[in-house]
Amino acid sequence: MADKYTSIENLKFLLKEVHNIEEIFKYPRYQDYDLDALDVLIDSVKDFSDKEMFPYFKDMDEKPVVYKDGKVIVHPQIDTIIKKSAENGWIGPYFDFDDGGSQMPGMLYGAGFHILEAANNNATGYIGLTTGAANLIVTFGSKQQKDTYVPKMLAGKWMGTMALTEPQAGSSLSDVKTTAKPSADGHYEIKGQKIFISGGDHQFGENFIHLTLARIEGAPMGTKGISLFIVPKKRLDAAGNFEDNDVFTAGDFQKLGQKGYATTHLSFGENDNCRGYLLGEANRGLKYMFNMMNEARLSVGSSATSIATAAYQASLQYAKERPQGRRLKGSGKKDASQEQTLIINHPDVRRMLLAQKAITEGALSLILQSYKYQDLALVAEGEEKEKYHLLLELLTPIAKTFPAEMGRYSINEGLQVLGGYGFCMDFPLQQYYRDIRIMPLYEGTTGIQSLDLLGRKIPFENGKSLQLLLAEVSETMQTASEHEDLKIYVTELESKIKLVQEVLQHLMAFAMSGDFEKYLADATIFMEFFSTIVVSWQLMKQAVAAKKILVEGNGLYGEDFYKAKVHVLRYYFKYELPKTAAHAEILRNKEILTIPEEGNEIFS
Ligand SMILES: Cc1cc2nc3c(=O)[nH]c(=O)nc-3n(C[C@H](O)[C@H](O)[C@H](O)COP(=O)(O)OP(=O)(O)OC[C@H]3O[C@@H](n4cnc5c(N)ncnc54)[C@H](O)[C@@H]3O)c2cc1C
Repeated sequence: MADKYTSIENLKFLLKEVHNIEEIFKYPRYQDYDLDALDVLIDSVKDFSDKEMFPYFKDMDEKPVVYKDGKVIVHPQIDTIIKKSAENGWIGPYFDFDDGGSQMPGMLYGAGFHILEAANNNATGYIGLTTGAANLIVTFGSKQQKDTYVPKMLAGKWMGTMALTEPQAGSSLSDVKTTAKPSADGHYEIKGQKIFISGGDHQFGENFIHLTLARIEGAPMGTKGISLFIVPKKRLDAAGNFEDNDVFTAGDFQKLGQKGYATTHLSFGENDNCRGYLLGEANRGLKYMFNMMNEARLSVGSSATSIATAAYQASLQYAKERPQGRRLKGSGKKDASQEQTLIINHPDVRRMLLAQKAITEGALSLILQSYKYQDLALVAEGEEKEKYHLLLELLTPIAKTFPAEMGRYSINEGLQVLGGYGFCMDFPLQQYYRDIRIMPLYEGTTGIQSLDLLGRKIPFENGKSLQLLLAEVSETMQTASEHEDLKIYVTELESKIKLVQEVLQHLMAFAMSGDFEKYLADATIFMEFFSTIVVSWQLMKQAVAAKKILVEGNGLYGEDFYKAKVHVLRYYFKYELPKTAAHAEILRNKEILTIPEEGNEIFS
């Protein structure tokens, strides 16, 4: 087990010195928070994670969720984690005071969750999903629904889930088949199967509140005929006592990773006695769900970042302790009489560690940037509000996908740092490698996020969101130009932005001619291309903040910390950003070889 799973120094640097969280604290909504409160909060989450989360990370993998006789049994520590998280206000902390929250800024929530997830990503879903489900009820529910469910959920007694997926409806939720039949007394009779439902059942939930997508009998086909229901595992009778609600847990999926996190198969209404309660208006269910998906997608990006960060810390510790081979200094001849060097001194190992450091620090910065836009979108007015909303919308698929895909890549490098031990169960890299693999899959696969980015977010209102983002990047470049040794990186980033415009011009020609299949055929390559550039902006932001502190000498930490930030920028611009030239070459090639016209016989 490694000693460290994240860097609190880096987290505080990002919050205070890069993203200026103080700007957020000035708004009346967040007036209970300040920099001192931030320190107390971060330190208390770290203390909790050190004691209650991290020590159980390996054990949850080795003693995975078990399904027996319709019951799901999770690791006993999950009980403590849920109870203490609720006591500490970590379920729904960003809700309004009136809804039982503490109006915590999203940036702080994101920072706290980063620590929890880096410590143990198998356990956080239970509280994160309960928050997400309660948020749906708070946002769209009636007073009676809020009063019935939300306090119990925030207290950690009743757990929440998102029950969307069905065997035939994964990426394409418009194909949901679960039915809802209206009854005379206002509730709906629910019938159907939901698969892959995270945290759908376990021995520590008094009740489970499934936020369920279903189709009311006679509703239109497709997305416009889907409604959202509250379907409790146990409903309340007139006297307020529990009554079985005919929700059967048919199984728990055995998985590659996140083995401590239950993934259930739920069957609703096998005995025609499952009641659902409509949330909001009929046929608007998917719209409501999408409202919450930004939040869920940001959470997945944050989880991926956190897992990759913990993996980086474990690789780094190993590289500092493992002697192997000798350095090739001077003549290039090895001197066997010399003691072995630590592997951290081999350039190839340093390259892998730098890849991990750059990707995880860039990803974490992107997550916090997105949370900042979310916070500002909530409190700003008029045009400003719209601006932050559009920026958040544009960044969300990127903030989900870059950490998921590049985090996976960075953990692969990290596993390589450990050599053969990376493949062995005694070391944690293999678990991080398995745990992160779900991130490009759930909450919309990478393919679906990429279609969203290129198909909806980029063309939205003739590229308005993109223009707003480029203005933000340009502001960072301007401040970077004030430092002589950052100017070459500004020139480089400028040329990449020009490249984005050229690539889009080329792709738009397909869209303009009405050939959307061709326009979107390589959307995933576009995602890789664009997100690599977006993250270079985040690393430049960090280097600018570090440079300023190095010049003015008023930072939180010593000089080495800030010099490292500039080094990471240099690494990323030399080793990662140039890959976008290859992406652009693929994207600008007129030949699209992946569309079905080629015929399926090419796969024989
Ligand atoms: C561990 C785990 C936990 C989960 N938790 C939940 C949960 O709590 N609640 C819930 O409702 N669901 C949950 N899911 C379901 C998850 O969101 C889906 O698995 C995911 O959306 C993909 O759907 P699918 O598995 O049916 O794959 P498919 O939709 O069949 O996709 C298969 C492949 O085809 C591609 N593809 C599909 N459609 C298109 C298209 N139109 N264009 C281009 N490519 C396409 C996909 O990108 C993918 O590569 C979970 C899944 C897992 C494995």
